[in-house]
Amino acid sequence: MNNDNNNSTLEQCSIHDFDLNMICDYFSTMERQGPGCDEMTLKALSFIKPLTAESKVADIGCGTGKQTIVLAQHLPSKVVAIDLFQKFIDILNQNSKGLGLQEKLTGIVGNMETLPFQEEEYDLLWSEGAIYNIGFQKGITEWRKFLKKGGYIAVTEASWFTNERPEEIDQFWKDAYPEIDTISNKIHQIENAGYIPVATFILPEYCWIENFYELQKEAREIFLSKHKGNPTAEALAANEKHEYDLYRKYKSYYGYVFYIGKKI
Ligand code: SAH
Repeated sequence: MNNDNNNSTLEQCSIHDFDLNMICDYFSTMERQGPGCDEMTLKALSFIKPLTAESKVADIGCGTGKQTIVLAQHLPSKVVAIDLFQKFIDILNQNSKGLGLQEKLTGIVGNMETLPFQEEEYDLLWSEGAIYNIGFQKGITEWRKFLKKGGYIAVTEASWFTNERPEEIDQFWKDAYPEIDTISNKIHQIENAGYIPVATFILPEYCWIENFYELQKEAREIFLSKHKGNPTAEALAANEKHEYDLYRKYKSYYGYVFYIGKKI
């Protein structure tokens, strides 16, 4: 936990420096906690061999589960959704029940570093905007054992679109998430971890702008009025705004990418 953040250190800090409970509170009023959209969830799903009612699917780092609901609505299979935060899981389970999906979709609290899964239990492991928490390479490597042979992994990850980029954005990401890399390097990592790279595509800008950053404006107001005068809360909100400003300025150099791999 780092309570020392303030506007003067804003340039150097990122979402990763803040207290997790504070982050949870900030994002809990939003329907997504990361960039994404239903259409891209379905596009990724289109590269995966048809599943059956017996197939097992897990959504890791599901947040409040916008994409998990899409999975449960479009797959015949049972879906388990896992997140570190009880509050997110409560929202997901409530939404799932409201849509009559409670038989198919179960949200559980858990840690992606110590997943409560059996070896070769799953046909599909999903993770949108969350694998960075364990690290892309570690995540795809360690989660592989939970997949059946021929099973799929589908994750989104921040990636560079070019080999070179302006110093300001390079430095920001080196501090925030040093594992950000080019798409070709990420594909090599997928191959090296024991998967066939099945598909890769860049998420459209609106997944990040309209569906994530713009929605934060309202969430930020709710959050700031709740935590009036709290310097950590103010720094977190300012940090998110700073990230959005950088995205608008440098979005031709980086973005979120869907990676789909098949376990060999
Ligand atoms: N998949 C969702 C949420 C993405 S935000 C979406 O696309 O909207 C990243 C999520 O990872 C958050 O919900 C956060 O609580 C969760 N998370 C962070 N560290 C985690 C961990 N160690 N284990 C499980 N979930 C974690």
